[in-house]
Amino acid sequence: MPTDIEIEIADAVGQVYYRIDSQIGQYPAKCQECGKCCDFEGYDHRLFVTSCEVIYFAAKLDPDKIKPMPASRCPYNIDGKCTVYPFRFAGCRIFSCKRDKDFQNQLSEQISEKLKNICEEFRLTYRYTDLPIALNKATI
Ligand code: SF4
Ligand code: SF4
Repeated sequence: MPTDIEIEIADAVGQVYYRIDSQIGQYPAKCQECGKCCDFEGYDHRLFVTSCEVIYFAAKLDPDKIKPMPASRCPYNIDGKCTVYPFRFAGCRIFSCKRDKDFQNQLSEQISEKLKNICEEFRLTYRYTDLPIALNKATI
């Protein structure tokens, strides 16, 4: 069960995700949800997550469902589909091979600032960690 403070952090992160989804929704190029970019080595792509997002993720998922990441593919990608789609990280929401890179870079900068502010507000150490490291640590 998440603590009260974890629930508050998760709510704040949820608002940031809502903001990302609204901005992405206005952008016409749509992801085809093929799942190729969730295989990070295969796609030559990396995904970093912030400490407050890991708290959000753990608070939203049943703790038994947090999975380690022993290989290059995100463990939540099953048969090409994201099985935690509503709870996926900011980087998953922002990245798309179909979107303009400048748009993504600007949005990433804005969102990183907001996530950093959440960490500061809740006196949480701000970490920006590669997804495998974050998931493997969360399952120790
Ligand atoms: S959380 Fe979902 S969208 Fe993000 S890398 Fe994993 S499977 Fe892909
Ligand atoms: S962003 Fe591109 S590679 Fe990734 S799932 Fe969508 S269509 Fe596939």
